[in-house]
Amino acid sequence: MYKISHFLWLRLSGLLPGELMPDQSSWLFSPHQHMPLMAHRRACMIINRVRLFAFLFAVLTPLWIVVDILTLPDTLWPQLMALRLLASAAFTGLVCYKRQAGMLNAYRAMATLFAIPTVFYVISHLLLTRYSLQGLSAAISAGYAFLPFVLLAGFAIFPLTLLESAAFATPVLVAYGLAGLEHWVSGSWPAFSAEYWLLILITGVSTLASISQLVLMMALVGQAIRDPLTGCYSRRSGEEILALQFEQSVRTGTPLSLAFIDLDHFKQINDRYGHEAGDQVLKSLVKAISARLRRGDILTRWGGEEFLLILPNTDCQQSLQALARLYQQGLGTRPDGNPQTASTGTAERINDDCNNWQDLVARADSRMYQAKSSGRDTINCHASAHARPACAICCNYNQSICSTEKAPEQRAESVALG
Ligand code: GH3
Ligand code: MG
Ligand code: MG
Repeated sequence: MYKISHFLWLRLSGLLPGELMPDQSSWLFSPHQHMPLMAHRRACMIINRVRLFAFLFAVLTPLWIVVDILTLPDTLWPQLMALRLLASAAFTGLVCYKRQAGMLNAYRAMATLFAIPTVFYVISHLLLTRYSLQGLSAAISAGYAFLPFVLLAGFAIFPLTLLESAAFATPVLVAYGLAGLEHWVSGSWPAFSAEYWLLILITGVSTLASISQLVLMMALVGQAIRDPLTGCYSRRSGEEILALQFEQSVRTGTPLSLAFIDLDHFKQINDRYGHEAGDQVLKSLVKAISARLRRGDILTRWGGEEFLLILPNTDCQQSLQALARLYQQGLGTRPDGNPQTASTGTAERINDDCNNWQDLVARADSRMYQAKSSGRDTINCHASAHARPACAICCNYNQSICSTEKAPEQRAESVALG
């Protein structure tokens, strides 16, 4: 069974050539592997669309009251009017939904949006079945039966995975099926079956539309968040990721480390060998670093030859180990054949007692400048007041010069942790 569904899934995602990276097709099936930045943007989009949808329904739902008054029995329309006003009030409440963008809040907003018309449909259906309406009244009351169709067609405007679409469509389909149970008893089941089949077809088309929206969104986000030259994250997306990681780190009480990496004497490469050669060094540096990062670590190009490495759930000691390993394995080669070196400053949220991500970047940046002034090719980490005993305070990785009071052997040990 798994093999068949996997095969079908591969076939389906194969119908979108060039629109998806090979490792992204599972993103269309379920949201579990979406990266935080993607999830954040999708949540913003879903919440905004829920509010748009709710606004439309809040305005349109009460308008039909006039038609009900003119065509339905005097005992029926006041009940339907009360129901419409209640639904409109609920939609208005949803228009004012201004929660922080997170997928959980987006799901809550969508579930409420779908629950209001579903409940409206079930109650109106129960009210209408008590009357045997004829002529114009019967025609007007038949319009109520189309609500699930509108609802299931409507979720085409949301960027959803296959699993999410199924989760939102199923309750509506079940409610419609249960409301139509009486057709099986009364013998009018062939007409009902045709309607139900149509509803399933609409659900299928909406699901495809939702997945297409997701594909488009993934492509746009993918292009917008990358630096075109090196392919690592751009500064703008880096700031967004860092804000999210900082928030998460505070919430969970976990460490968050940054490394501000500035290439040494990079201008000389441009001046001596041309801009193209400089670009090549930047590309190979990103390739070299990216290949050695842990899953979850994020490399962003902060400026021309400046990079910010975001290391979630990583304390001072671990960040130093990771950087020592990067330095040890090399940061690429300059056009003259010499190794490319860099000056790096690190900072960690808890150790540096930073209240926001901007402070954390500023701390790493200023340590990078200290690393430059102490001779370059250096990793400069942690303020002495907060540093752990085992952690080097200022480490010159390649030249073994360190501003701590430790003996040279100890220093070598604390730096060459990789
Ligand atoms: P230091 O060791 O003090 O950091 O010296 P540096 O030469 O690396 O630093 P400086 O800030 O003087 O020069 C940075 C250079 O990076 C200047 C700029 O021309 C170059 N640069 C910035 N962006 C790019 C780019 O996209 N491609 C290329 N080839 N060069 C770039
Ligand atoms: Mg610079
Ligand atoms: Mg530089």
